[in-house]
Amino acid sequence: MTKTAIVTGGVRGIGKGLSTKLAELGYNVVINYTSESSTPRAEQLADELKKAYGVDAIPYQADVSDHAACKKMAADVVEKYGSIDVLVNNAGITRNTPFVDMTPDQYRRVIEVNLIGYFNTCHVCLPHMFEQGEGQIVNICSISAQLPQIGLVDYAASKGGINAFTKSLAAEVISKGVRVNQISPGSIHTEMTEQTLREYPEIVRNFEATIPMKRSGTPEEIAWALEYLLKATYVVGENVSVNGGSFMQ
Ligand code: NAP
Repeated sequence: MTKTAIVTGGVRGIGKGLSTKLAELGYNVVINYTSESSTPRAEQLADELKKAYGVDAIPYQADVSDHAACKKMAADVVEKYGSIDVLVNNAGITRNTPFVDMTPDQYRRVIEVNLIGYFNTCHVCLPHMFEQGEGQIVNICSISAQLPQIGLVDYAASKGGINAFTKSLAAEVISKGVRVNQISPGSIHTEMTEQTLREYPEIVRNFEATIPMKRSGTPEEIAWALEYLLKATYVVGENVSVNGGSFMQ
């Protein structure tokens, strides 16, 4: 039976690269997103993946910060495809705000999407994976969990949380056959970084100048790390840094 993967925020940027890699590897892909305006793009990507790789692909609109919506998504996927074999938690937001200008609501929203969102999707998919006796979760974290960056206190806090979340969850669920790992991208060219470039051009250019490779990465370069983790059957609770040498562990 063809295996099935869910990619949250799978319609653009890094998520699009991950959705494409999963289709290339032969998975049916559930392309999750949240904004109404992304529906045409999600439909187009699903069509492209079906045509290019002969798998099934569907767009699925759900806000990952809404536990009930995530629960419905997991149930719908199992009803349609019979299993959830891979969950890639990728949906994330950033607000680029100096700390003193950050409002409590903004801080809360970033944590709700970036950290509680990962809890929600894992919480609703894991019971299905336990029942199957196997599954894989890959969390997209960030170099911001390790490297301080200006204007990103809320974002860094959420990513630091994911770093700890991945390891503790990995230790807890491996006995049920579920492997959890994470990828920490450095600077990757996407709409998220275009927004930062518009608002803080100097910070982005100064950061790029510090990258030993002297360039930002691409979504495809993150997707190769996903392929490695999916195939690396003895790797558990691990972080794969993909950052052009910006931060070496
Ligand atoms: P992006 O281009 O801004 O795309 C973000 C995706 O997340 C979009 O598809 C968006 O859906 C989705 N999303 C946002 N909020 C959501 C919600 N509440 N529920 C469901 N989906 C939601 O971002 P990106 O640069 O590709 O980043 C993807 C991931 O990589 C994020 O976790 C980010 O923190 C991480 N990352 C990025 C970089 C980088 O340099 N780009 C570096 C390190 C880590 P809509 O299309 O519907 O808005």
